[in-house]
Amino acid sequence: CGIIGILGSHEVSPQLVDALRRLEYRGYDSAGVATVDSSGRLDRRRAVGKLVNLSDRLVHEPLPGHIGIGHTRWATHGAATEVNAHPHQSGPVAVVHNGIIENFRELRDELVTLGIHAQSQTDTETVALWAAHYMAGGASPVDAARRTLARLKGAFALAFIFDGQPDLMIAARKGSPLAIGHGDGEMFLGSDAVALAPFTDRITYLDDGDHAILTRSGVQVFDADGNQTHRAEARIDAGA
Ligand code: GLU
Repeated sequence: CGIIGILGSHEVSPQLVDALRRLEYRGYDSAGVATVDSSGRLDRRRAVGKLVNLSDRLVHEPLPGHIGIGHTRWATHGAATEVNAHPHQSGPVAVVHNGIIENFRELRDELVTLGIHAQSQTDTETVALWAAHYMAGGASPVDAARRTLARLKGAFALAFIFDGQPDLMIAARKGSPLAIGHGDGEMFLGSDAVALAPFTDRITYLDDGDHAILTRSGVQVFDADGNQTHRAEARIDAGA
């Protein structure tokens, strides 16, 4: 339901949880964060219920890293359990998702024929599984994400991070809003400018069908046809 992503210069777990608090108004049933630490290790923490359950867990099981994604979930496919909470992870890929992947059953059934089985009941996990499958076949993170995105039907906002990639985040939107926030040597991603208000007022909204490759030094945006494009940056005071 709510997405946040940070390519930062400090520990991002606390920032991710703070930003998720700003998205609480949308409603949610569970929450989670994933980070890549300085050694390149991808890991995640998830909790059912209020954000305090997630922040309590992070006190006992900290999640280091200067890059991360966070999510508040409003379940559409699969009950509100920890296994179904985002981020979904498969091998080197972690994904958060707003919306619905309408063809997830076909995507899941095809994975079964490849011997790949989902752990959760969500539509979202198929996205992580396919991207990880393409990477296992030799695709780069960017190519794996693109090949996966090309297969998705439905309405979604998505963010991907990858094991071994502490300076890479991929975002995509179709039917659900997604905004990029520009910082000073930092980049942000959010479901709306409200989530990004504590970090920056320099916002670029992605157009429908766009995907974006974010690093700390900037963002490249590609349109629905895969052509690199420019989306205007605006000053948006969403009230920090
Ligand atoms: N369809 C996904 C799920 O049920 C995402 C729901 C959301 O937008 O929070 O896990």
